[in-house]
Amino acid sequence: MALEDLTDPSAVLRALEEFRGLGQRNFLKKYGFGSSRGWMLVDADGHEYDAKAIIGAAHGYQYPAQGPLPQSDFHGGQPTARKLRELGFEILEPTTRRNSVWTRDELILALELYVRHRPSLPDDRHPDVIELSSLLNRLARTAISRSEGSFRNANGVAMKLQNFRSLDPSQKGKGLSKGGKAEVELWKLFAEDPERLRSVAKAIRAAVTGVQNFPTPEPEGEDAEEGKILTRLHQIRERDYRIVERRKLQALRANGALHCDACGFNFSLKYGDRGNGFIECHHAKPVSGLQPGEKTKLNDLILLCANCHRMVHSRRPWLSLEELRQIIISD
Ligand SMILES: [Zn+2]
Ligand SMILES: [Zn+2]
Repeated sequence: MALEDLTDPSAVLRALEEFRGLGQRNFLKKYGFGSSRGWMLVDADGHEYDAKAIIGAAHGYQYPAQGPLPQSDFHGGQPTARKLRELGFEILEPTTRRNSVWTRDELILALELYVRHRPSLPDDRHPDVIELSSLLNRLARTAISRSEGSFRNANGVAMKLQNFRSLDPSQKGKGLSKGGKAEVELWKLFAEDPERLRSVAKAIRAAVTGVQNFPTPEPEGEDAEEGKILTRLHQIRERDYRIVERRKLQALRANGALHCDACGFNFSLKYGDRGNGFIECHHAKPVSGLQPGEKTKLNDLILLCANCHRMVHSRRPWLSLEELRQIIISD
């Protein structure tokens, strides 16, 4: 009875099914395994399973008479990974997945889940927690987020909900150690505005599922309050050559010149020929209202000089045209 005897992928599949049914903690307890220190099997939906314990259980499914392989009978880590890969499964090494910091997008989605269920606190077997875990793993694979390569299992999501609970004044004293600075900031920003939180989370979800490959524009300034994904959607719209050219034509026809809607700067007056036809477009529609695939309307775009545009995006929250004008006037 040994690791090498395991040859049947369907035995592994049955172990995965049992793992999902019991939840991580109960599964490990039933088979007498500790956590596998980061070696995880990940399935097509992004669910994670402790690799070594899965081998132990799968052995029992393939050889019911001999039963599961006990933890002490074989090595975790490389040998376990090799065996599971041989059987066609994907294994994540500890370094690719542990301790990656939650991105703003991920935190917003977790906060929305927390607020939606409050005052009850779903655990790692709750369907909504499992669903979010798989969505976050899909998000990591779209490589928009800095969390690229990180994986969030249901347990990690459930713990994040506990972090948020500890920040919740209505749940005094409950929950797991306070989250970091980012959690505190998001709590202040969104917790008292569930309406906005819901619409931002909805837009992020639509973007994750609707757009598989974002081009990656250079970062400039800070991401929007609503996270990186919606920031990218915003930038993609501003750089859509066709609509931007149409918007500039519209302005040329109306005013005979292109100038900054905020400060009046005119590139061709300042730079002569070289500045002819130059101006940037800023997408003025609220970032949380962006949907992938939705057409940009000409009126959504305002014209800004490069300086003003940078100032809009330089810090959270991004400025509206009116706010930018106020700053310029009061100077
Ligand atoms: Zn300007
Ligand atoms: Zn912009």
